[in-house]
Amino acid sequence: MGQDRRLRVRDAEPTASVSPTSTVAVTKSPIPAATSPGEAPPPAPAPARAPAGTTPQAPKITIKPVAASIAKPVAATGPAGSGRAVSGCGNPNGSKVLLTFDDGGPAAPAILSILDRYNIKARWFPTGQWAGSNRPFVARLLGDGQMLGNHTYSHPQMLSSLGTAELQRQVNLGYHPTNVFRFPYGASDAGSMALVTGMGYSICGWSIDTLDWSGNPAATIADIVTSQARPGSVVLMHLSFQSDVDALPGIIDNLRARALI
Ligand SMILES: [Zn+2]
Repeated sequence: MGQDRRLRVRDAEPTASVSPTSTVAVTKSPIPAATSPGEAPPPAPAPARAPAGTTPQAPKITIKPVAASIAKPVAATGPAGSGRAVSGCGNPNGSKVLLTFDDGGPAAPAILSILDRYNIKARWFPTGQWAGSNRPFVARLLGDGQMLGNHTYSHPQMLSSLGTAELQRQVNLGYHPTNVFRFPYGASDAGSMALVTGMGYSICGWSIDTLDWSGNPAATIADIVTSQARPGSVVLMHLSFQSDVDALPGIIDNLRARALI
């Protein structure tokens, strides 16, 4: 059902690229494993304690890093995002801003703690790899009523050059308790788009890119979000960065004062 309807969510492709038509936002270079500049630092080996102890009611769940940090391409120099309304993400309230958190990383418990404190349900896109390594935490997310989505297994650029079998494998091994999918890096092409939507997924892009992976400090992240937010905006953040943790309360206070969250 709704094949054509699903295809329309193409419009929701991220604006993190240069033009609305360039769904292949990042094609320049293959993802360097963990070495490109501006990446999330590989999660520090933090054996048996929850990260940072930033939250009083921090869960006792240990967050396990996955092998390679999930690189963000340097290709897309996020334009001033539009903050426009984005469909395809299953935003339960189109008049509100939807926060989304991708990949996996040590900031996850602190982020959840903040969301809980404000009673906010966000959409989380852990990779299948990370979700598999952090099952207790993911179970806690579900129990908490957080929304999840499929972000592939190991976060490749989902381009047709990967081959149909590998594209399907990435989707099938992704964490997918819902039918919402987000392309890693926002990178897709006609073939991969058709494949994923043909598997029944709606595509969730974003319209506010915090560029947290680039090293933006919390104040910059907060400014990006609050200056662009409007009803239906979808904010892209990640689970790796303390800067997002630091920025979140101020962002939420701001949006809440404007009835946007
Ligand atoms: Zn990602």
